[in-house]
Amino acid sequence: MSNERIWLSSPHMGGSELKYVKEAFDTNWIAPLGPNVDNFEKELGEYLTVDHVAALSSGTAAIHLALIILGVKPGDEVIAQSFTFCGTTNPILYLGATPVLVDSEKDTWNLDPILLEEAILDRIKKGKKPKAVIMVHLYGMPARIKELLEVCNRYDIPLIEDAAEALGSVIDGRQAGSFGHFGILSFNGNKIITTSGGGALVSNNREWIDRSRFLATQARDDAPHYEHTEVGYNYRMSNILAGVGRGQLEVLDNHILKRREVNAYYRKHLNLGRLYFQSEISRLDLSNYWLTSIKIEPELLGVSREDIRIELWKSNIETRPLWKPMHLQPLYKDCPYYGHGVSDELFLKGLCLPSGSNLTLVDLERVVIGFNKAINQL
Ligand SMILES: *Cc1c(COP(=O)(O)O)cnc(C)c1O
Repeated sequence: MSNERIWLSSPHMGGSELKYVKEAFDTNWIAPLGPNVDNFEKELGEYLTVDHVAALSSGTAAIHLALIILGVKPGDEVIAQSFTFCGTTNPILYLGATPVLVDSEKDTWNLDPILLEEAILDRIKKGKKPKAVIMVHLYGMPARIKELLEVCNRYDIPLIEDAAEALGSVIDGRQAGSFGHFGILSFNGNKIITTSGGGALVSNNREWIDRSRFLATQARDDAPHYEHTEVGYNYRMSNILAGVGRGQLEVLDNHILKRREVNAYYRKHLNLGRLYFQSEISRLDLSNYWLTSIKIEPELLGVSREDIRIELWKSNIETRPLWKPMHLQPLYKDCPYYGHGVSDELFLKGLCLPSGSNLTLVDLERVVIGFNKAINQL
């Protein structure tokens, strides 16, 4: 059996990416604007059924712009899901605002609507109403988005839906990323589709997306020379990379099917009744299963998450602990936190398994063999 590295999630090109990139070269649109950018925005909007899309240099940039447009200023507070990647929360710090971190609930591993409301009420009591809430569909798993929206609407606080990991996930017939006041996407190298690096900001509010494009091109005022009255950013997506994105969008549904097959394979061959898989809470939800994620109970399995991770690494198989919650990160240790231990436990016991859409059956068999070796099943 080959011993080549099995990656957690590696890029998977479809075929027509190069055609769009070549078009960019042939027409000399080698710039952060051009037909691929326009078409990628249009095609993404159609896929998500949202009216307006701005293609940007990263998902982190998209969150940064969303917060600016919502008026977040130094000293303001922004509530964010603690259990996430730092790209969700760092933009709050860019603005000199304070992240207020909130724990997940145990079913979806995403933002807990009950804790969210407690946090909002407590912040208001302490004298500051949060300027925005950022929630995440972690590993592609639909969060309790309708409940979260209800809470946000009750207090009239805008919701930013971080769908960086959840492109193509569906909640009650609607695409993840299309629920929030803003949705954000990422096309980083390991995401379900990639432009090598990139992101998007989406919304049904035309003014907001127009403004995001303005801020993303150095906030250049309408004048023949370069005139500036505001701070801007260099955050637009390149026309070459948007070409990669257009090709990737054509194979997105196929990637989702493949990742769901990978998930089903692990459930069938690893679920000894002693493993907990992150799962949808409703038949109306569909995760893109960007990463299949499990929770390992050492008392049940006889080994720890780290035992398994290290054993698999010896077989050249890459797995990864779940995200370390932001409230446990040195950078965020002084931020207010509302929690009940859910993400702390997931961080100790959780593991992401190789989940790429380009994994072969032989790869998956190797993972299962390595896993069984780790728990002494062989
Ligand atoms: C990847 C990711 C981001 C940031 O996206 P970049 O394009 O890498 O800046 C934000 N939030 C989550 C949950 C992510 O996984």
